[in-house]
Amino acid sequence: MELKKLGLTGVEEKRPLVIAGPCSAETEEQVIATAKQLADNGVKVFRAGIWKPRTKPGGFEGNGVKALPWLQTVKKETGMLTATEVATAKHVEEALKYGVDLLWIGARTTADPFAVQEIADTLQGTDVPVLIKNPVNPDLELWIGALQRLNNAGIRRLGAIHRGFSTYDKKLYRNLPQWHIPIELRRRIPELPIICDPSHISGRRDLIAPLCQQAMDLQFDGLIIESHIDPDNAWSDASQQVTPEVLNIILNNLVIRETNQTTENLTELRKQIDEIDINLIETLAKRMRISREIGTYKKEHEMPILQTTRYDEIINKRAQQGIELSMDGEFMKVVFEAIHSESVRQQMLIME
Ligand code: PEP
Ligand code: MN
Repeated sequence: MELKKLGLTGVEEKRPLVIAGPCSAETEEQVIATAKQLADNGVKVFRAGIWKPRTKPGGFEGNGVKALPWLQTVKKETGMLTATEVATAKHVEEALKYGVDLLWIGARTTADPFAVQEIADTLQGTDVPVLIKNPVNPDLELWIGALQRLNNAGIRRLGAIHRGFSTYDKKLYRNLPQWHIPIELRRRIPELPIICDPSHISGRRDLIAPLCQQAMDLQFDGLIIESHIDPDNAWSDASQQVTPEVLNIILNNLVIRETNQTTENLTELRKQIDEIDINLIETLAKRMRISREIGTYKKEHEMPILQTTRYDEIINKRAQQGIELSMDGEFMKVVFEAIHSESVRQQMLIME
């Protein structure tokens, strides 16, 4: 793929590139007030959704064209660059007409090659920077395919946004990070900037700071974070937005470590360990959930929690399975005794 730098006028080329602003442009006042506070804190690129793809009808679907002049006002009054999501040819035309500086393609749109192609065709002949969010499903090829469609249309200033992947089994995160997917994207297209969207990954304010740090530690180039002057009353994605003030604290606390030659290999391996540990934790949490379901069943059928034959069977079988995979049998016993005792504790809570 032939790529150029994002080249955002007035934005220093350093990690992290920060894009911030509300999920949706709700009112002119909300847009301008949020932008002013962000600009005062040094944020250079303002995001706001004008057209909002919502999972279900009835939610706020954006103000549409009416909100585009508000972005022009932001630009005029704060000097920030502006960014919005486009999903159709019409959106692209309107956004360009109003001078939006940076476009992004949302996760639902990236999953649809017809829609991406339509956007690519409309962008042909322009030189706008475009960021492509990962598709909702964990399909790296589909993500790369979307980047290629834009690149084939002559768009050279491309970037990717990692916003996590949908899952039926909602756990800690709204969208599972599956970090190995953007890491593999980095390996496949090393010159492509990758930006993390901790707001849509987490769906929760309190997880934004640790996700930002993780993204920086994984050498992501930037962060796109939802920020709203009054998050609790936001018209969309209220639970994941932070005030510009909180965003400032999050950004100031970030530790930016640059990798150097000697530690690079180690960094790569540690990323893999982190990913595996997260998977382990999620798998354990899933096991506990099923265990609680068993607890409910036992309660309804007046069965005892501890069934020793089942317990012995688990410990011995797991030890054997572990040995077959080159692990120590005693180690396996310790691990499964600990897991089992936490299962019992969780079932006791249900019995009470
Ligand atoms: C958004 O950025 O507000 C948005 C709708 O994100 P996504 O496409 O990642 O769901
Ligand atoms: Mn949102």
